[in-house]
Amino acid sequence: MKRITIAIDGYSSCGKSTISKALAKRLNYSYVDTGAMYRAVALYFLRENGSFHKNPFVAGLELTEADKRHLIEMLPDIHISFVALPDGQHTFLNGEDVEAEIRTLIVGNMASQVSTIREVRKYLVAEQQAMGKEGGIVMDGRDIGTVVFPNAELKLFLTASPAVRAQRRYEELLEKRTNSIKKGETAGDEPKYEDVLKDVEERDYRDTHRKESPLKRADDAVVVDNSNMTREEQMEVIQQIVEERIK
Ligand code: C5P
Repeated sequence: MKRITIAIDGYSSCGKSTISKALAKRLNYSYVDTGAMYRAVALYFLRENGSFHKNPFVAGLELTEADKRHLIEMLPDIHISFVALPDGQHTFLNGEDVEAEIRTLIVGNMASQVSTIREVRKYLVAEQQAMGKEGGIVMDGRDIGTVVFPNAELKLFLTASPAVRAQRRYEELLEKRTNSIKKGETAGDEPKYEDVLKDVEERDYRDTHRKESPLKRADDAVVVDNSNMTREEQMEVIQQIVEERIK
């Protein structure tokens, strides 16, 4: 059977990575979470700047032109890879497992900022194209069907309302925090729904309005609005689309 390229794009927190991972597993394809790559670049930058513990909602964490130039210079020192571990795929930054660290709000917010820089995108897009050149891949992000693989055999565009996405993200953050407390780890402040919603809206705005590869649906993408779908329902819908396309 032909091993195709599946490009999955959509807004932040609409379950792209969950569905992409499940799909890749079912098809025995590899999976690339391109958001994790932008997050890893953001983490590298935050560490270099010593501002990792600042609150992402406090003004002052916006990238200045000097920050951007500094980050562009550092790009050749940033190497990102993915490693399959027993609990799933982990993101590695220069050989270090940073999977947990890149999933915080502060890194997500910074990722949305670094992803507006043309040179960062060029660097990561080239890596993504190399990772997917053999086909048999599910790749998710914002520009996969439009820029990274404009000739992908199947393009999906996932969406859900901002309120639904913020609620899901909020519950995830709460759960993570509870688990950290149970394990005796430092957990940080309790997330607030309003902050999460604000973050979702800010990211949507940046993703759709940036000059470089703004998030937009490819003309030939199939749209799946999962606001009122369970994960299982969504998987079923997508599985059908995939089967038809592979045939
Ligand atoms: O998907 P995730 O929330 O992990 O992505 C983090 C950030 O990286 C997003 O806010 C988005 O701006 C950016 N991104 C991007 N292009 C991609 C994947 C992610 O600009 N292909």
